[in-house]
Order: sequence, then structure tokens, then C-alpha cells
Amino acid sequence: MPLRNYDADAIILKAGEPATSLMFLIDGKVDIHLNNHLMARLNQGEIFGEGMFSDQGKRTADAIAVEPTAVLQFDLAGYEALLRQDSKLALKCKFIFEALYKNHSTANEIFFSKDKTKHLALVAHNEMKSSLVDFVQSNLKKINKFPLIATGTTGELLYKEAKIVLSKKVKSGPFGGDQAIGQMISTDNIKGIIFFRDPLSAHPHHADIEALGRLCDVYQIPLATNPATATAVLDYLAATENQESPQVNSLLEDYGRKQAQVVQDNRKPSQDP
Ligand code: PGA
Repeated sequence: MPLRNYDADAIILKAGEPATSLMFLIDGKVDIHLNNHLMARLNQGEIFGEGMFSDQGKRTADAIAVEPTAVLQFDLAGYEALLRQDSKLALKCKFIFEALYKNHSTANEIFFSKDKTKHLALVAHNEMKSSLVDFVQSNLKKINKFPLIATGTTGELLYKEAKIVLSKKVKSGPFGGDQAIGQMISTDNIKGIIFFRDPLSAHPHHADIEALGRLCDVYQIPLATNPATATAVLDYLAATENQESPQVNSLLEDYGRKQAQVVQDNRKPSQDP
């Protein structure tokens, strides 16, 4: 293994780079920074860069030398050489580093514990905005039970006309607001969407509207597009209020299994099973 020396403040590993090596800290100190947080200060004898032994292709954190530091670099070529020389030892190392990686990932997840808020999203195209204001005013009590989110102009109007206070606001739909709501679906932060769509006009962000509807289908998010379905969605949300996932999403489960197979099928022959 090559020995690498770093001056104080030198970046040893950088988030986003391919995770192709693991480091043994021989001398000095190393700080691990993740999303602008100092996660750990490592001392002589510790290991970092174990993401090399994970399905994570890229580094997720920066490793920075605190003082003049020396590390031994164990890279993929070194691992493959060890595998040829002593496969039992190589697999044992792999097992240990994988476990280390899992422990660190769990600790990081707890540290950045996810936002668990589930919002009801309110959106209306311009020609449908007054219809949404009327609907919200007539269903204020039911709607106010949820943390609310709305696209820019809809949110402003609801605040002024229906005294709705939003817990989150995203940009106007054509400026990325619909995509921002879609992103929140993927992080499990949307409970339902009331999106009064104008069926008689062309919209510059047609693709974004389609994409939002598609994600609702992928994640089984109730989407109401007019006052009648909005009434049904509010009733559904009230009826399933205490259920974490009202229905099993076999689509997501099947896809997860299929992708695990894709990873398996595309592994290089030299890799262990
Ligand atoms: P708006 O966006 O609330 O900013 O008008 C709605 C949309 O057209 O998606």
C-alpha cells in the first residue's frame, strides 16, 4: 500500500469523488465533514473511506487533515491483488469494512434525522384559483388539520383570501414549484395533493405537471384535480389519518427487487457473490 503524506488542512478525500480507496491513518489527525457538519475527528490507527466497500459509488463526506498526516492507501487494485493472493483474508477484510460502513451510515442517518412532516399540497392554475379559494374556504376545518404547502401564487392568494398559513412554500409552478412538490413526494413528505388543473389552456410547464401526476402514481399519493375529487381525497385522508401507509405499494417493492437484480447482473466476474 502506498504511503501518502498530507499537510495540515489538505483535503484527503472529497465528497462526490469516486469511492475507490480506503485509508489507514498512520500518523496525524483527520476530520470527517458531512454536509458542513464535523462528524468525527479520527486519530492514529483509525480507518476512513470505507465507502469503497459499499454500493455507494461516490464519497459522501470530506476527509481533511487537521495536522501533518500520513495515511496508507488501500485501493481497488490493492484489494483485487489481495483477493488473488489470499481470498479468505480479502473477503474477511471486505466483511469488516462493509460492517464499518453500515455502522457509520446508520449513525449519520440518526444525526441527520429526516424531516417526517407530511404536507397537503395545494396548487391551482390561474383559471382555477378562485375555485380553489372557494373550496378551501368551504373546507377550512378539514384542510387546516394538515401542514400545508402551496406553489407561489396559489399560496399567496390562499393566504390573502382564505387566511391559510402555509408551513412551506415553493416557487411558482412554471418556475419549478411543481417539481419541488414532486421532490417532496420522493422524500415521503407529501400526504396528498389538491391541484385544480385548468383543462382548457396550454401550460408552459406541461412536462412538470405530467411529472407530478406520474410521481403520485409511483408513490400512491392521492391527487385531486377538481372540487369533487378534492372532497373525496379529504375524506380519504381523514379516514386513513392514523395509518402510516394505507396500502402496500407493490410497484415500489417490485421495482426495488428488479433493481437489486440489475446490480447483481452487472457486477464484474471478479467480484464475490
Ligand atoms: P402558481 O403555480 O401557484 O405559482 O400559479 C401553479 C402552477 O401552475 O403549477
